[in-house]
Amino acid sequence: MSENDLLARVSVPGGREIFEPATGDLLGHAPQDTKEDLERAVAAARAAQPAWAALGHEERSARLVRMADRIDAEAESLARLLAREQGKPLNGPNARFEVGACSAWLRATAATVLEDQVVVDDGKQVSTLTYRPIGLVAAIGPWNWPLMIGIWQIAPSLRMGNTVVVKPSEYTPLSVLALISILNEELPEGVLTALSGDREVGAALVAHPDVRKIMFTGSTATGRKVVEASGANLARLTLELGGNDAGIVLPDADPEAIAQDLFWGAFINTGQTCAALKRLYVHESIHDRVVEALAGVAAKMPLGPSLSEESVLGPVQNAMQFKIVSDLIEDARARGGTMVTGGAPATELGPLFYPITLVTGLHDGDRLVDEEQFGPALPIISYADVEDAIASANRLDVGLGASVWSSDPDQAQAVANRLEAGSVWINGHGGVHPMVPFGGVKASGYGLEFGVEGLKAVAVPKVVTRKVN
Ligand code: NAD
Repeated sequence: MSENDLLARVSVPGGREIFEPATGDLLGHAPQDTKEDLERAVAAARAAQPAWAALGHEERSARLVRMADRIDAEAESLARLLAREQGKPLNGPNARFEVGACSAWLRATAATVLEDQVVVDDGKQVSTLTYRPIGLVAAIGPWNWPLMIGIWQIAPSLRMGNTVVVKPSEYTPLSVLALISILNEELPEGVLTALSGDREVGAALVAHPDVRKIMFTGSTATGRKVVEASGANLARLTLELGGNDAGIVLPDADPEAIAQDLFWGAFINTGQTCAALKRLYVHESIHDRVVEALAGVAAKMPLGPSLSEESVLGPVQNAMQFKIVSDLIEDARARGGTMVTGGAPATELGPLFYPITLVTGLHDGDRLVDEEQFGPALPIISYADVEDAIASANRLDVGLGASVWSSDPDQAQAVANRLEAGSVWINGHGGVHPMVPFGGVKASGYGLEFGVEGLKAVAVPKVVTRKVN
């Protein structure tokens, strides 16, 4: 199937117009689902859940593997549709990579087993902790990694015997609807439904009394609203929210050796990544060398149209985010920041292109340091004392990821132990793995995804205690 065939499956005449960020061309029309569609989706999901749960782990895992096979078969068309709608290029850690991750996550989730656990067996009683399906899961996603994050929510939920209603971001609905139509080729009716619409549809879904669990990935501001809505029926929550990840480069790091990994840690998906490096603290003794090495890497990374095989950096996805990024860069300039690279929109490429912007000379308290930029800008801050760098890293009210860069593993570990974040990487930033739990602390959310912990998050624990005579 070509990407246009996929698009034709999900685009509806008269729906909301979706434009391609790189070109401004009209991509298609997204359905505008209503309250009635929501009721239908919820009723179908509830009706389908007992039979889906009754299939058992082995059969459900087999379905997940078949879904991965279907994604692999349509990988190129999905990647092209994703590139056109989201804006990320095909190559680099972008569209093809994202579609590959969807398949990999489905396979890994299919192979993961959540075992019953005997918690007490003392001759008087045997108590066993088991896990049952929750029921109906609402999955709400953002626009930056719409397919991969969708799969992160869907795969474990289905694996554990739940049914799922998905509400993709209003900025990237068509590629998610296309993905779901492919997954549905392997699923019974009602097990997985997508609702397309704006924030109101998301708000109505999370407030629905039949929703037992909400998997939410998006901004901290929306996350707070989801928490409030969940109070009515005490739906369980996994919240993957915003971040402002700090990286600390220790004085013994080798600037040239780490530059490439630092670059992708910050600029994967053109910086529009939750756990991207968003403020970099570098020891003053190597600050200039790190800046120079990073600028050297940036100069070699082509920024351009999403469908060009050359591009590894693309446009900002939407005008709202573009404005946030440009405003933060203007503010940085006004506060005396030095633009080492970039610093002004790349208007020759299109209205949503902004080049990689490395900014030095900023301090804690400056907006580009304190606020999540979620785009192609990185403040690089010089420090003299590692204690100050640790305090700076921990001073904000978010804690998704963090990183330490050093040639000395013990010293790096000692700093890593003191950083307040759900994930800390040493000599890397933002790498995720289907078996390594992922989640935030503080206002970056709570609950874990991936691996065995991720399965627990979409199940309800149940303890059976048997008396032993
Ligand atoms: P957003 O919060 O604006 O939207 C996320 C989703 O929530 C969308 O589908 C939207 O329609 C829906 N929504 C809006 N209002 C709602 C409501 N009241 N109730 C229920 N749903 C509602 O976020 P975004 O701009 O799409 O994504 C960017 C943000 O997401 C950034 O802050 C980023 O850091 C964060 N993010 C976090 C992770 C993570 O894993 N922690 C991953 C990706 C993105």
